[in-house]
Amino acid sequence: MSLFDRAVARALPAVPKPVVQLFSQRYIAGSTLQDAVDVVHRLNDEGKVATIDVLGEEIAREDEARAIAQAYRDVFAAIERDALSSNVSIKLTALGLDLSYDLCRENVDSIVAQGKFVRIDMEDASTTDETLRLYRELREDGHDNVGVVLQARLRRTLGDIAALADLRPNVRLCKGIYPERSAIAFTDYEAIRANFVQALRALSAVDGAHVAIATHDEWLLGEALRALPPSYEFQMLLGVREERASRLVREGHRVRIYVPFGEQWYQYSLRRLQENPAMAGTIARSTVTRLLGRGE
Ligand SMILES: Cc1cc2nc3c(=O)[nH]c(=O)nc-3n(C[C@H](O)[C@H](O)[C@H](O)COP(=O)(O)OP(=O)(O)OC[C@H]3O[C@@H](n4cnc5c(N)ncnc54)[C@H](O)[C@@H]3O)c2cc1C
Repeated sequence: MSLFDRAVARALPAVPKPVVQLFSQRYIAGSTLQDAVDVVHRLNDEGKVATIDVLGEEIAREDEARAIAQAYRDVFAAIERDALSSNVSIKLTALGLDLSYDLCRENVDSIVAQGKFVRIDMEDASTTDETLRLYRELREDGHDNVGVVLQARLRRTLGDIAALADLRPNVRLCKGIYPERSAIAFTDYEAIRANFVQALRALSAVDGAHVAIATHDEWLLGEALRALPPSYEFQMLLGVREERASRLVREGHRVRIYVPFGEQWYQYSLRRLQENPAMAGTIARSTVTRLLGRGE
């Protein structure tokens, strides 16, 4: 990423919302469940499977958290009705984690009780302990249809893999999108990559583990393809490197695409635009053009 793009990425929260929306359309299925269903049909036709995310995070009220849980039950009904190859990904702060652990647990239970696979996304490092605690509780209560996420960015991740090993865990491994302090996280690009490779090796050695390799990084894809875990899939985000995902499918690998939908698109969109190596500069140029009155 150029210095200019980096500066723009940091300034993105100041960009008008309609501009952010325009440039983030490719990352989001749309605002309704039907939009997500349509996208998953398209992906399934291309031989890809999906995981559907109801957008929303850091919910401030109990009724909002309960509404998100209901939205996930509706997603499962749609998956069933349309016979879609998809599971769901949930965020604990969307289900009330910041309000109370018990409320969040109740909401998660109501989703997990549907019996279909549920992936618990990992959010910023202030939530890691409670997320892993909830995952363990669910698994120890006999819910095998649950998986969790570990972030290669975090220094603790190799330790977390060792601690989870007795559960024969289902883990999505990603770099981690949330900026964290250097005391707890690797901040250097190559160090994060190196920890990703180490974590992938460690997970491959865990008896009974299923590993979802979630990256668009060509170098990491190469490392993974050289030494695949016994049970694995690749995962990518909607709107990112779709051709690469198709090639993996053609080569015989299972590829799952993360499909977010919903009204609360703003925070997710900001994160995607900030990590897109080219998009920040494009947005900046478009915004400047508008400000100068030369836009369409
Ligand atoms: C399925 C899935 C689920 C995820 N779940 C979580 C989670 O629960 N918690 C969490 O913290 N993080 C999650 N992430 C995000 C992840 O942590 C990274 O922030 C993200 O995947 C970018 O890292 P990368 O490995 O693709 O490498 P990068 O080095 O960021 O990207 C590699 C290349 O991919 C392309 N690329 C990447 N991002 C974009 C973009 N936005 N637009 C256009 N091109 C792009 C570019 O060509 C770039 O050079 C998830 C990612 C995926 C794929």
